[in-house]
This record gives sequence, C-alpha cells and structure tokens, in this order.
Amino acid sequence: MAPDADAVTAEERVALAERLRAIRERIGAATARPVRLLAVSKGQPASLVRAAYALGQRDFGENYVQELAQKSDALRDLPELRFHLIGHLQRNKVKHVVEHAVAVHSVDSSALLGELGRRAVGREVPAARRAFGGDGRLPLLVEVSIAGEAQKSGLPPGELGALLALAEHTEGVRVVGLMCVPPFSEDPRASRPYFDALARLREEHGGTARLPELSMGMTADFEHAIAAGATLVRVGTAIFGARKPRPAKDG
Ligand SMILES: *Cc1c(COP(=O)(O)O)cnc(C)c1O
Repeated sequence: MAPDADAVTAEERVALAERLRAIRERIGAATARPVRLLAVSKGQPASLVRAAYALGQRDFGENYVQELAQKSDALRDLPELRFHLIGHLQRNKVKHVVEHAVAVHSVDSSALLGELGRRAVGREVPAARRAFGGDGRLPLLVEVSIAGEAQKSGLPPGELGALLALAEHTEGVRVVGLMCVPPFSEDPRASRPYFDALARLREEHGGTARLPELSMGMTADFEHAIAAGATLVRVGTAIFGARKPRPAKDG
C-alpha cells in the first residue's frame, strides 16, 4: 500500500477530534464512574484508526475477522493499540482472532469458548495491549441474548451459569464480563430494559467481583447504557461518521 493511499485530510482530523471530544464529554456528563470508550472502526480505513490513536484513543472495536487482521497488521507499530472483536465469531476463525484481538466480546457458546481456550493457551496478550489488566490470558465477554427469542445471536441467559463454570476450567482465557446488543428500535429508550436486565443477570452470577465489565450501548443509546451500569460503551458512527456498506461476505 502506498503510504498516502488513504491519507486522512486535515479537515477530517479536525472533525474526528471534535467528535471524539464530544463523546468523551457526554460520557463524563452521564456519570462520574470511569466508563471506557470503545471506538467501533468497522468499515473505516486503518488511517482513521491511526488518526484516532494520535488523539489518545486506544480501544477499538471490529466486527469482521479479516478486516480486523488487515488493520491490525497495518497498525502494528502502535504499541498500545487494542482491537476488540465485537462481532459474531465463527469457530474456524478463532485462530486469527487470537493473533490480532486483545479481547472478544461475542462469546456465545461453550464450543466457541473451548476453541478460544485451545488457541489462546500458551500465548500472552502483550502487557501494553492488555485492555482489562490481568495476566496475559485472553479476556472474554459473554454475549447474552437478553431479549430472548427475538434475537439471533447471543447465549440464552439460562445457559450463562454453565458457561461461566466451564470458563473457570478453561486455560488461556478469563471471562471479565457480559455484553449485549438490544433489538433495534427507533426509540433509544427502548434499550434501557435490556440494559437493566443484563445488569441484573450479572448480579445473579457473582456481581462485579466475578464479572466487572458490562459492554453495552452504541451511538444511539450509550447514555441509557451508562445509566444502567455500562463500564464500556461501543460507539462507531458518532465518532467516525457513516460507514462503508458491510462486506458481502464476512472475511
Ligand atoms: C457496529 C456496532 C457497534 C457500533 O454501532 P454505532 O451505532 O455505529 O455506534 C457497536 N456494537 C456492535 C456489536 C456493533 O456491531
């Protein structure tokens, strides 16, 4: 790739800085708790991720494994860059994920958990890239289908206990929290009951001591998620603007 193949213009840089600042300000206005901002960079070029990194942003979310791998390779020189996988993950792609992601938010089956453990064992997340502290084991969040049958992805809440028990015996990984994506609604307030439900589910399974992280809230509804106890919000459009259309096939 030519160095300037998709260079970020000065104008784009200013707009990005302004959007990032505005989101951080809204998070600060919503709570005095520390809430981590995950900048969702799917559909955006690596150059824009680099520009956000230069503005102090460290955590980025990607949905597609091939896109994640490409950007992670292009941005290897940024020592504290942390890519989180937040999209649905197929078992046959786990091998690439453990090479490039420092956390996976979309664990939704015991088979996937087992495969992540098999591939992560013996590897260490480099200290500078550890998103959730710890010892180098790959941090995982369990994606819960908190709206039940209306949802296609995520683990049914009733299966969470068994998955957490299994995780305790799985080397190479550690579960640090729960994640959800409520069903889409035109009204962002409609997400709130689902965020509350995820927080309650966490209480039923050991609370913050066992599951410190709640990954919930996106551009439209992140303030509602923070009100319900989110520790990490995943914001794409409000930071980077509109995305290119999704790839026809997940890479
Ligand atoms: C795309 C995506 C986001 C970010 O969505 P925006 O509405 O652009 O903020 C957050 N979480 C997940 C799981 C996503 O797929």
